[in-house]
Amino acid sequence: MVGAGPAGLAFARVLHRHGHPVTVLERDSGPEARPPGGTLDLHEGLGQLALDKAGLLARFQTLARPEGQAMRILDAAGTVLRDWRPRPEDRANPEIDRGHLRDLLLGPLDVRWGRGVTEVLPDTGDGTLVRFADGRQETFDLVVGADGAWSRVRPAVSPVTPHYTGVTFVETSLDDVDTRHPGLARLVGDGSMAVYGVNRGLVAQRNSGGHVKVYAQFRAPVDRHAGLDRADAEAVRSVLLSLFDGWAAPVLDLLRHGTAFVRRPLHALPVSHTWTHVRGVTLLGDAAHLMPPLGAGANLAMLDGAELAESVAGCHGALDETVRAFEERMWARAARWASVTTAGLERLVSPDPAEALALFDQVQPS
Ligand SMILES: Cc1cc2nc3c(=O)[nH]c(=O)nc-3n(C[C@H](O)[C@H](O)[C@H](O)COP(=O)(O)OP(=O)(O)OC[C@H]3O[C@@H](n4cnc5c(N)ncnc54)[C@H](O)[C@@H]3O)c2cc1C
Repeated sequence: MVGAGPAGLAFARVLHRHGHPVTVLERDSGPEARPPGGTLDLHEGLGQLALDKAGLLARFQTLARPEGQAMRILDAAGTVLRDWRPRPEDRANPEIDRGHLRDLLLGPLDVRWGRGVTEVLPDTGDGTLVRFADGRQETFDLVVGADGAWSRVRPAVSPVTPHYTGVTFVETSLDDVDTRHPGLARLVGDGSMAVYGVNRGLVAQRNSGGHVKVYAQFRAPVDRHAGLDRADAEAVRSVLLSLFDGWAAPVLDLLRHGTAFVRRPLHALPVSHTWTHVRGVTLLGDAAHLMPPLGAGANLAMLDGAELAESVAGCHGALDETVRAFEERMWARAARWASVTTAGLERLVSPDPAEALALFDQVQPS
């Protein structure tokens, strides 16, 4: 298994539950090597199903934030257009901090940290060969590439690389909002708040412990705002404030009080990315089907991992046929979600902000 993200850890944890050893190779030097990222909503039939297969659903429910499903939509003038709150018993898509999810999945797993993979060569006679950044190499019966958007395993099965979607996010965050920025805490509420304008959006999401992640979203050529990579937070802030010029002051306060800024141009694989099956290698999660971040990627990644692990655990020696059959199922499911999220991104960050509202009304339970 290459990669200790949601896909890789779900795969390893379900195999572990079935009593099978699995080696997890991860490039990061340890679980805390990077900030874990924002909150994730785990859907009942996807991420939660994967946790159930791992025997972790009850633990998840103690960590999850059902109130985090709340969603408020404003226009650029600050008028609240929608203010949806879940009922107390609503458990369809509760939120969990990524760090909490990672720790839940990690549990007893043995991850080899600091093992960046550089290349995978299938069918060397002895099994699949994995080369590491430190010069070492090792062979395995099956290499599962769950190493994300810029997978180093993918070239062993597919020449395709992700393309830019036309939309860039710049991420920032605020800490201790309830005490340091009570007005913004009320604006964001218990879950997410989104403001949509012409080819622009600003989304704020509450994580646990009063931490709020903010995503400034806009359409632009991929290199137009390369300057936003600068370490100088004040320079980035000022570019963003000019991009969102004229928006309501409380909304812009999310950018005024944000700390570090990270530019994330959104990339995606083609909607129906498949490959000719290669013995001894497969892909899961973003490595297989990177798509716009509209709440599905981690869910699909986890379910991919859990389902492949269950299939492998019960395959009684027919490993290659099992992997081949799993790929067909994964491709069909991923293609459906990739087409939904691709169309969704077009409507959320679009020339007509009414499209974003219409999308919300279409998907949100009333
Ligand atoms: C801003 C944003 C918000 C999102 N919000 C949501 C959401 O609310 N809900 C949702 O379901 N999805 C969401 N997503 C999508 C989600 O983050 C991804 O789909 C998910 O993380 C994919 O999981 P993965 O395990 O396939 O890959 P990753 O999470 O990318 O994990 C890959 C792992 O592989 C490791 N790795 C990479 N290269 C190598 C290498 N060469 N050798 C060894 N290890 C390597 C990485 O360090 C990492 O640990 C969001 C994405 C973004 C960008």
